[in-house]
Amino acid sequence: MRQRDQKQEHTGSYYAATVNEVTDYPVLEGAKSADVCVVGGGFTGVATALTLAELGYSVALVEGNRIGWGASGRNGGQLINGISGLEKIGKKRGPDYNQMIWDLKWRGNDIVYDRVEKYGIECDLKSGFLEVATKPSQVSYFDEFISEREKHNFPYEYEVWDKEETRTRLGTDAFYGGFICYRDGHLHPLNLCIGEARAAHNLGAQIFEQSPVTGIEHGDRPRVKTANGYVEADSVVLAGNAYSLLEPKYLSNLVFPAGSYIIGTEPLSEEVVSEINPRDVAVCDLNEVVDYYRLSADKRLLYGGACNYSGRDPASIKAYIMPRLLKVYPQLKDVRIDFEWGGKIGIVLNRVPAVGRINKNVYYCQGYSGHGVAPTHVMGEVMADAVAGTMERYDLFADVGHFRLPGSQWVGNQVIALGMLYYKMRDKL
Ligand SMILES: Cc1cc2nc3c(=O)[nH]c(=O)nc-3n(C[C@H](O)[C@H](O)[C@H](O)COP(=O)(O)OP(=O)(O)OC[C@H]3O[C@@H](n4cnc5c(N)ncnc54)[C@H](O)[C@@H]3O)c2cc1C
Repeated sequence: MRQRDQKQEHTGSYYAATVNEVTDYPVLEGAKSADVCVVGGGFTGVATALTLAELGYSVALVEGNRIGWGASGRNGGQLINGISGLEKIGKKRGPDYNQMIWDLKWRGNDIVYDRVEKYGIECDLKSGFLEVATKPSQVSYFDEFISEREKHNFPYEYEVWDKEETRTRLGTDAFYGGFICYRDGHLHPLNLCIGEARAAHNLGAQIFEQSPVTGIEHGDRPRVKTANGYVEADSVVLAGNAYSLLEPKYLSNLVFPAGSYIIGTEPLSEEVVSEINPRDVAVCDLNEVVDYYRLSADKRLLYGGACNYSGRDPASIKAYIMPRLLKVYPQLKDVRIDFEWGGKIGIVLNRVPAVGRINKNVYYCQGYSGHGVAPTHVMGEVMADAVAGTMERYDLFADVGHFRLPGSQWVGNQVIALGMLYYKMRDKL
């Protein structure tokens, strides 16, 4: 079996440079025991551990690097409702499930807002997420966004901005209009993840860092093994997402790692901020491969986008992303770039997160297809439900069949893109 044995500190992101707490949980050594062992200290693992700790379970969370080291500590920080593939599940299940699907769609936002308040997590959480049309045809999507909200008596504010209003509020001609929802928003994801891990720890969860899990010995009480120790638990939750190589017999060729990249400018002057984003909202376009941006708390423009499945990061992330930024804001051509980084998102061909269990007591949940800040929080709750024996929401996801693409670690961009296109066309039929 391939093993992960490299332990790494955080990547050189804006987030790592501005953490509230530098975590230093111990390395797992010797024999430990818990009701539940969670593998992976990103949002999925931390949200699962925190939900279980709140329910009174004893939890051990084992992270190979640092809390939030993966996509959770590197992402665009855009808090966006929904779960990739959820509509597909709704269609399959029929109208009886409409309310449940709608509740799931917003549950992640609720959990994040509640936890930030309950545990006093300082993560620069701000309300407002704007979806922008880069083509005139995309403006029609806004009618759909409005009608679903009206149908469910959505209690939060939203607005449609026409081309002129979008131009005035964003200081760019690049877009044909926007839809803003104030229940969505943006935040410092690494500080959120670290704050939630601290909350779980304060409730008694054991946390281990720099402890890559090398394998799992299955049984009534599976044993989660690292180089220097192990945890025995009644249940295990695997939350390594695009970075995990565990359980290849069951999980390989299911989730495909794809690179996404962000650059962070120097802090912008008040004048520039008032020109390009005075309302301080998160912005994301409506394309298949999205570009997304927002301001940090210290008014840097964090601009991200692109997606590649080759496994090779570009030689210069700045050179890769800067032309995209300049297409929207040519006036920033002389701005200094202080940060550039990338991370792996977990793509699933049919876009539904891959959820299931191996040998009755080893659960897994991975593959958010690039949209995970809110969804991971819902799935943490869904995994905790399942461990506690409540399977209703878990079954919605676990019942979805997934196609495996054999040898996907070698086939590269085109074949994976083709696989996704196949599913997209099938959905349209
Ligand atoms: C650049 C970028 C921008 C993004 N922007 C957004 C955005 O703006 N909004 C949004 O909603 N989503 C965004 N996403 C997606 C989102 O970040 C992810 O979907 C989400 O963070 C996934 O969380 P996770 O906990 O499942 O995985 P991760 O955060 O990747 O965590 C997995 C963890 O498991 C650990 N691990 C793996 N294998 C082992 C092992 N064997 N032993 C121990 N530990 C192990 C890893 O070290 C890692 O810390 C973005 C992703 C990227 C990369």
